[in-house]
Amino acid sequence: MAEKHFKYVIIGGGVSAGYAAREFAKQGVKPGELALISKEAVAPYERPALSKAYLFPEAPARLPGFHVCVGSGGERLLPEWYTEKGIELILNTEIVKADLASNTLTSAAGATFKFDILIIATGSTVFRLTDFGIPGADAKNIFYLREIDDADKLNEAIKAKKAGKAVIVGGGYIGLELAAVMKINNYDVTMVYPEPWCMPRLFTPEIAAFYEGYYAKKGVKIIKGTVAAGFDSNSNGEAIKLKDGRVLDADIVVVGVGAKPLTTLFKGQVEEDKGGIKTDAFFRTSVSNVYAVGDVVTFPLKMYEEIRRVEHVDHARKSAEQAVKAVKASEEGKTIDEYDYLPFFYSRSFDLSWQFYGDNVGEAVLFGDSNPETPKAKFGSYWIKDGKVVGVFLESGSAEENKAIAKVAKLQPPVTSVDQLTKEGIGFACKI
Ligand SMILES: Cc1cc2nc3c(=O)[nH]c(=O)nc-3n(C[C@H](O)[C@H](O)[C@H](O)COP(=O)(O)OP(=O)(O)OC[C@H]3O[C@@H](n4cnc5c(N)ncnc54)[C@H](O)[C@@H]3O)c2cc1C
Repeated sequence: MAEKHFKYVIIGGGVSAGYAAREFAKQGVKPGELALISKEAVAPYERPALSKAYLFPEAPARLPGFHVCVGSGGERLLPEWYTEKGIELILNTEIVKADLASNTLTSAAGATFKFDILIIATGSTVFRLTDFGIPGADAKNIFYLREIDDADKLNEAIKAKKAGKAVIVGGGYIGLELAAVMKINNYDVTMVYPEPWCMPRLFTPEIAAFYEGYYAKKGVKIIKGTVAAGFDSNSNGEAIKLKDGRVLDADIVVVGVGAKPLTTLFKGQVEEDKGGIKTDAFFRTSVSNVYAVGDVVTFPLKMYEEIRRVEHVDHARKSAEQAVKAVKASEEGKTIDEYDYLPFFYSRSFDLSWQFYGDNVGEAVLFGDSNPETPKAKFGSYWIKDGKVVGVFLESGSAEENKAIAKVAKLQPPVTSVDQLTKEGIGFACKI
């Protein structure tokens, strides 16, 4: 098999890979210098669309509509863009071996790729119920969602059964988004999760109560405090046995129980920490010509003086840009500023839309109207640590208000009175 050599290789074809390619182009990469190798069949796209508009029954999002970098208001990089820039877009190609000592990647089909500089952008893969040894969890009506192929399979199943029954396993944001789109597809939807409230890693019980109430109003049933313990396939679909003894029927089961970073190819070759590939503030790994970006990386979060892994699209974009700038700066003997990231995360479902900036540690202070019965309810939460606001959550904020909460999370203004903060609500953020 032929061997190809590139100055720069990006392994991965997701969000980070796409944003890295755009940054390479901005930095003046020459034709033939850069290759992007992805196991997916399509050019990089904005992954968050898959659990939202991609699954809508009416006017669904479809490629080429959501190729990167439209999600951040940027240019849409169609496959032709890569050709014009002389960037080799190598699709349908899974790398199965990476030898960092000899700068060589090997594909499943046996092709080899040599690089001078490697950018690892392999992202995450979902946890499967089979990973936990749950009986019957390999059934064909059980779906996961990570890549566009998964979303296509789910869409086919939705179309095959009108007004069917769906069970969503998992109460994180993916579970919440999927429950909403299945409902929009006119399915009878039940969510099952073990925690006492949804999105427990971010939501306080009060925030969660709003979403659970809102979902109930939309007709989504929620079963908390138990897990799927087994599946029996029958001609009507799946019988899902819950640990508490209940049995649910479903035509479609969609599982969203978290993801793990894809680091396997590099095990033992780069330093790891907190489950990810460890880098410095320029996304350089312990191997000097190898960088890592996006979900896969554990990096210094300067604001909080700790190292973290972040599985959100905003970081996927920004880490990719930082890494490529760092590659170019180091070639030119220049330096750039350290990555100074303000964590940002958002989700959308039904006609709801929330944003969160900063850190959800310390005392949570709810503000606004969080009654799910209120039409267009607007509410949020501040988190206060050591007398300062360190994190802000806002449901249904305007563009201006969302900008204001980002500023607050970044500046961390002091709080003298919690009562005053509750009373002022979003007004506090808007005057900072
Ligand atoms: C359905 C869904 C909805 C989401 N919604 C939101 C949201 O609303 N808000 C938010 O902040 N975040 C959201 N996220 C998270 C966000 O999409 C990720 O944080 C982001 O995609 C990470 O970018 P990445 O480039 O690191 O990984 P990915 O975008 O996952 O890209 C990884 C790429 O690497 C490829 N790859 C992996 N291994 C190999 C290999 N061995 N050889 C070749 N190619 C390989 C994969 O095929 C893929 O193309 C969502 C994620 C999913 C799955």
